Order: sequence, then structure tokens, then C-alpha cells
Amino acid sequence: MIEPSEETAGLRLAAADAGLLADSLRSAGLKVTAPRLAVLRALTDMPHSNADALFTAVHTDLPGTSLQAVYGVLASLGTAGLVRKIEPAGSPALFERRVGDNHHHIVCTRCTVVHDVDCAIGHAPCLTPADTLGFDVRAAEVIYWGLCAQCQLDTAHP
Ligand SMILES: [Zn+2]
Ligand SMILES: [Zn+2]
Repeated sequence: MIEPSEETAGLRLAAADAGLLADSLRSAGLKVTAPRLAVLRALTDMPHSNADALFTAVHTDLPGTSLQAVYGVLASLGTAGLVRKIEPAGSPALFERRVGDNHHHIVCTRCTVVHDVDCAIGHAPCLTPADTLGFDVRAAEVIYWGLCAQCQLDTAHP
């Protein structure tokens, strides 16, 4: 019996991955296109990326792509509910594939690293306003700001 080489296994994995991504596009009612697949794949590897970083990531595989095209792809993925956009103050919009669970984010004020924060208690909306002003509250979006562990080490004075 011949063991598949690591490279073959990697290719097979990439093909399976592309199939799953294509399925998610189809079930969201979107046409499967190479740029959409590439952006979804890049977002899988690097959640909380901005459009520039995604453009850099997909450019090697799709030399014909423009930054404008990436913005277009992100807009259609967003409208279809496949991608969520977060906009921390002072940062370009960031995109991620983790959608629909009303999770929050924690951002480092020094190195701008972003992590997911699950709801602390219960289900979304996980924050109860002191006064809802008659609103039927459906979601809460919180951004926690602080220094990440690495930046605390970097800036600690002995
Ligand atoms: Zn940091
Ligand atoms: Zn997130």
C-alpha cells in the first residue's frame, strides 16, 4: 500500500475545503466565484482581517484581483450573512467568518491584536441596558479595550 505524500494529502485537504466553501456560498444564494472562494479561505486562516490584508493574501492566487474587487466580494459576503464586519474605533473595518452568535471582541490598544470574546452569561443579547427606551433589543456589540498579555510584558519596567 502506498501512503499518500504529504503534498497530495495537503492538496486533497485544500480541495475538500474549497468544496465546503463553495457549499456555503451556494446555500447563501451566491454564485461560486474564484475571488469569493479566495476571500473566504483567507478569512478562515486570518479572522479579523481588514480589506488590505485580505487583498494581499488573495493576490498571489488571483493576480488579476484589485482591492476594489475585494471590497466588492466582502460587501456581497456581508449581505449574504457569510461574513461579519466589525469596526473598532480608529481601525479600518475588520472581517470574520464567525457570524450569527453575537460574540464580542477585545482589542489591544498597543499592538491592535483582536480576539473573540464569547458572551459572558446567557444568550444574546447578553447585555441588558438600564433603560431600553421601549426597544426590542436583538443584539449587543461590545468592544473591550486593553493591553494584551504580550504588550504588558513588553512594557513592564523591572
Ligand atoms: Zn498588544
Ligand atoms: Zn470575532
